Amino acid sequence: MGKQNIKANIAKHREALEKMALDIWAKPEAGFREFNATKLQQDYLKNMGAKITSPVDVVETAFIAEYGSGKPIIGILGEFDALPGLSQKAGLTVQDPLEPGAYGHACGHNLLGTAGVLAFAALMDTMKEENLPGTLRFYACPAEENLSGKSYMARAGVFNDLDCCLTYHPGNQDAVSGGSNNAYTLMEFYFKGIPAHAGGAPWLGRSALDAVELMNVGCNYLREHIIDGGRMHYIIIDGGMAPNIVPATAAVRYSVRAPKMDQMQDIVRRLILCAEGAAHMTETTMTYSVKSVMHNMMPNYTMNEIMYENLCQVTPTEFTDEEKKFMDDMVATYAPEAIAAACKQYGFSPAELEHGMRMKPVLYGDKSQCGGGSTDVGDVSYITPTAQFTTACAPIPVSAHTWQSCSCYGTSVGTKGMIRAGEAMALTGYDLFTDKKDVIEKAKEELKADLDGATYTPIPDDMMPYYD
Ligand SMILES: [Zn+2]
Repeated sequence: MGKQNIKANIAKHREALEKMALDIWAKPEAGFREFNATKLQQDYLKNMGAKITSPVDVVETAFIAEYGSGKPIIGILGEFDALPGLSQKAGLTVQDPLEPGAYGHACGHNLLGTAGVLAFAALMDTMKEENLPGTLRFYACPAEENLSGKSYMARAGVFNDLDCCLTYHPGNQDAVSGGSNNAYTLMEFYFKGIPAHAGGAPWLGRSALDAVELMNVGCNYLREHIIDGGRMHYIIIDGGMAPNIVPATAAVRYSVRAPKMDQMQDIVRRLILCAEGAAHMTETTMTYSVKSVMHNMMPNYTMNEIMYENLCQVTPTEFTDEEKKFMDDMVATYAPEAIAAACKQYGFSPAELEHGMRMKPVLYGDKSQCGGGSTDVGDVSYITPTAQFTTACAPIPVSAHTWQSCSCYGTSVGTKGMIRAGEAMALTGYDLFTDKKDVIEKAKEELKADLDGATYTPIPDDMMPYYD
């Protein structure tokens, strides 16, 4: 009975879901096009008897699996998209892409989503066996990287009746962080000029590329006068066709981030002024388009504490000699300073590491701290109390979005971290469905106090998923 039952059910699903995670890793898919991953996960959960729906018609690969009825309604979030240009062979400690320039699972979403499937499966089995009341849901959320699939799901209202939510991300330690991260906008600016022979009659031309460059100069001056923690980064996505033709079109893609939504929106407003100024200077025209918006994360200490408590109860992982050697070799690809810096960030000494791993779970950080990145989990965290944590799926100091992380997330080191994550979420869900229901009310009160009257702002009705 109880948590032993959860552990037994984790063991039952373990092998099939380790295989699923590695299958998804081997076929990395772009955001909104995770057709293989969504099918694997839907089929697995459907076979178990979960009710599967696809309630967000503009987001084809999203689905919801549901079991049970009544209150509480507890959600588990998953993701499964990969990153462009980060293809890498698994288990290697040298950079060697499977296919140069192709997508790769360098953010470990192959593990992220499958950990959610595992948690759902083990909890569903246990709820059935013990006849537990309540509703369990798994949300398969596409396009987390840059494109914010969850904001389309949130606009459709699919998170509104949740009592609370659990989610996880692969990382390099078992940790629950109390810190937040940045609100985010991805947008593109398009300039239109007049083409001309760049050698023969440049005075007839109006260069759209000049406008992009002047806008970027404006942005780089703007940097000094935005808040600490604000960020702007860009790439030029259209710079003209040939140097001897004055570019008639040019375009630039920007990411804008800041710790809070209103701060981020104000930087966006000023960036648009830079773009308008550049158009004015060059006698070109400018239009822009917002591609994605993510809310900053609302950390919830009440949810974090119950998550941490359960992370500490997870079955410990044993590594084989081969896995230990792989981790040692991977750590050796980094300078000692990088290892020391990562340990300092988490507040422990490098001497505590074994093969780059520190397996003791840690609860760290507070709401005043804001990581530089962003996630569309932020959107969900505005709607319902949300716990988010990491497990070590790669040794310290491997960070996500690198060839090293892609290599680790395709191995058994990665899947062992995923199993711990699935177990931690299932154990937490069990508590929330049984004798710790009061935690949910406390978590809701905490979120209400932190929002202080602010509400979730869905993306505009006419915004549609963006395919890179
Ligand atoms: Zn990620």
